[in-house]
Amino acid sequence: MIGKLDLIENEYGAVHLAALPGAYANETMHDSYGRRINYMRISLTDACNLRCVYCMPEQMKFRPRHELMSDEEILFLVRGASLGVNKIRLTGGEPSIRPGVVDWVAAIAQTPGVTDLAMTTNGVLLDKLARPLAAAGLKRVNISIDTLNPEKFNKITRWGAIDDVWRSILAAEEAGLRPVKLNSVVVRNFNDTADMIDLARLTLENEWEVRFIEMMPFGEISDFQQSNVVTFQEMRARIEAVFGPLEEASYDYVDPSRPFRIPGALGTLGFISSVTEPFCQGCGRVRLTADGKLRLCLLRDNEVDLLTPLRAGADFEEMRELMRAGAYHKPWGHGLAQGVFADNRSMNQLGG
Ligand code: SAM
Ligand code: SF4
Repeated sequence: MIGKLDLIENEYGAVHLAALPGAYANETMHDSYGRRINYMRISLTDACNLRCVYCMPEQMKFRPRHELMSDEEILFLVRGASLGVNKIRLTGGEPSIRPGVVDWVAAIAQTPGVTDLAMTTNGVLLDKLARPLAAAGLKRVNISIDTLNPEKFNKITRWGAIDDVWRSILAAEEAGLRPVKLNSVVVRNFNDTADMIDLARLTLENEWEVRFIEMMPFGEISDFQQSNVVTFQEMRARIEAVFGPLEEASYDYVDPSRPFRIPGALGTLGFISSVTEPFCQGCGRVRLTADGKLRLCLLRDNEVDLLTPLRAGADFEEMRELMRAGAYHKPWGHGLAQGVFADNRSMNQLGG
């Protein structure tokens, strides 16, 4: 399978991907504000085996297969056109449900210039995949877990079983996918009370990073998302009411998560405050959606269509130029405070 992924053989002719880039790994992309674009989040699919209330409506319809990029098309873009991208995160939808995900990881991990390859997953299938993914070159995982309460977990994901996720967290740690990061989107009246405290307590004994995320509004469920957001300040106050003042850990502008520590804890707490305190000055990310659009900012609808020209026969040079020009026009800042929402996609189509 990996061998197959190294060769694109279709209407564009046959190209050995392995023979291509590397040459491009030394080039860089910048936007018009001087931010270096070196981080790409790739959605392998918009489909998911859960339906989290903060992410998508229950009756979500997923895209038909022919609208999604093929394996070869994704690799064509990653290896042949993404200039100077050294950090890649696979996401979705749920990336682990894409067939051949282990081969995928191997093919991307072997791409010259890629030094960091991670995945964001709901953990339902990671129990069995953690070891093969690590062997294929995956470095780390972020696992979504919004509460430790089984009934609440079931309600927030609409049908998930927390035991599956818990097994996966342990399997990830054992497979060396460290440091394990746990993502929790905090939703008022769902998981904003004891849940945060239970999750924060995990860091006392484990070298994990538990990250609390402000819920962001998208598309048709934006009313629900806006009216149930819990702010960073509120989350911090609730945690400090139990554990006392948090210590600030070092701040890395590349990571949107602000790290803190409960005094004496082995692990850290992170807060991702995209809504109330955005981190746009340090943002070097672009997103590749499963349907082949280069998304320039999570919270703005600006996108560059890469799949249509690719299917029309554009060559590597043309695709690189599209990618470079798109990255240059990456917007600065989101418009949530002005009531401007991204509404052309839901979160499962963006990858977080
Ligand atoms: N299915 C995988 C998962 O849940 O980890 C990957 C895709 S999911 C869209 C990526 C991340 O986005 C997850 O950590 C999820 O909790 C987060 N997320 C989903 N909807 C969100 C929202 N409305 N606001 C903030 N984060 C959200
Ligand atoms: Fe699926 Fe992840 Fe969205 Fe939950 S957050 S519905 S697991 S894509």
